[in-house]
Amino acid sequence: MSRVAVIVMAVVMAVQLSQATKENSLIVILVDGFRWDYTVVHGVGTQLPGFQHFQTAGTRAEYLRPVYPSLSYPNWHTIATGLYPERHGIIGNLIYDPERNKTFYLMDTNSTTDPTWWGDAEAIWTTATNHGLQTALFQWSRCDVQWRTESDLPRYCERFEYDPTGSTHRLPKRLSQAVDMIKEEDYRLVMVYEGSVDTRGHYKGPLSPEVAAAVRDVDQALQQLWRRLEETGMVDTTNVVVVSDHGMTQVNDGSLQEVEVGQCLQESEVVESLNSCPELKHKVKAFLKESVPPRYHYRAHRLIPEVVAIAEKGYTMNVNELAPSIKVLTTDASSYFGNHGFDDTQGQHPDMRGVLYAAGPAFARSRKAGPVEQVDVYGLLCHALLLPCHANNGTPAHIAPFFATPSPNTDGWSSKGVSVSIFTTAAAILVFFFFFFCLVVVVVAERDTSSTIFAILRGNFISNHSTWTQRWE
Ligand SMILES: [Zn+2]
Repeated sequence: MSRVAVIVMAVVMAVQLSQATKENSLIVILVDGFRWDYTVVHGVGTQLPGFQHFQTAGTRAEYLRPVYPSLSYPNWHTIATGLYPERHGIIGNLIYDPERNKTFYLMDTNSTTDPTWWGDAEAIWTTATNHGLQTALFQWSRCDVQWRTESDLPRYCERFEYDPTGSTHRLPKRLSQAVDMIKEEDYRLVMVYEGSVDTRGHYKGPLSPEVAAAVRDVDQALQQLWRRLEETGMVDTTNVVVVSDHGMTQVNDGSLQEVEVGQCLQESEVVESLNSCPELKHKVKAFLKESVPPRYHYRAHRLIPEVVAIAEKGYTMNVNELAPSIKVLTTDASSYFGNHGFDDTQGQHPDMRGVLYAAGPAFARSRKAGPVEQVDVYGLLCHALLLPCHANNGTPAHIAPFFATPSPNTDGWSSKGVSVSIFTTAAAILVFFFFFFCLVVVVVAERDTSSTIFAILRGNFISNHSTWTQRWE
């Protein structure tokens, strides 16, 4: 690179950072489990003016496809990093590390405190903090765990704590705080988590009146936000993004049939025993880790188990009947009315899709973009903050329609990890399987032990609110 080019790049970066510190701020609202069509199915008669504001003042995606598995923590960290779970390492809500004999579980705050889980990728709040931007997070993931050093930590952080009540009353207060922090304390990035829509979706079902009420409450909070930004003269300097991690589907209506995999499972030949079992034919497909189809982006990380078994459309796996030497780690979701985690990597399960809305000075007005992937969201946030993105798995063309002006931060995207072209090719080849949706059972095999130990994770039923039924006993 020539000296002139280096100087030009330095000037451009200095201008960007100057703009970042003086002009743009960003409020990101993560609404857990907000399905892509909720504003339609729950908007009848109410119009949802808070969301409608994005139609005139911003840009919205047709839908957002979550990364696989369509669970909270993997998707939260993809939003924060632009990477697939096989790159950022948060491969599930429940993870087992056989090398360290440690378990990560979303509901167990002590287990997620270990910074080792988070060491593979820098979250956007760390990048923003390291570039001198005041950053605040409300109930957002493990923002309290430092990535490298203490100086990485955002100025304000409330870590994620599960709220089983499904209450919506905190969101308006947090958004009001966000506006105050930006206006009075020079915060530039405020990220707010809202869990009520997901909680109610699980316990009452995605089409329930309780979810409809939560959607209306989120809308009210947005209406209040728009009013406050108007009153405080911050409309032209504040970007607002609403994103969800995944959708939600009804699971208690007989659409899923349980199959017992334990009766087929043999310790010595896990994949072969599952794939050759007559009872599982056309219902379950098992893969060695290295053979997991590329469209899942679920094989590169060391924490991904050696064997991944995927149930085909209409089936879920049960693990009650196992050999005595097999130890089980699983979660119970039987009482749920709604759930997620299912596979939409080929469009098999639209209910898993979420939303992406954006409005503010960085974004185009009155525009509807096409579908986006969860890995794209990180680039969108970087653009709004004029922050330099690290290499990621997003596709700039997916989010280009959102921008009021072309993004300066797209060079080098997808240079790390699975390339877009590989993904696209794999998706085309595997379109044959379009009509299958999948549940995943992840099987960990420690083959160097005298009696093989398996941890079976009912992947699609590992959700935020599952409870342990057995635990490494
Ligand atoms: Zn959930």
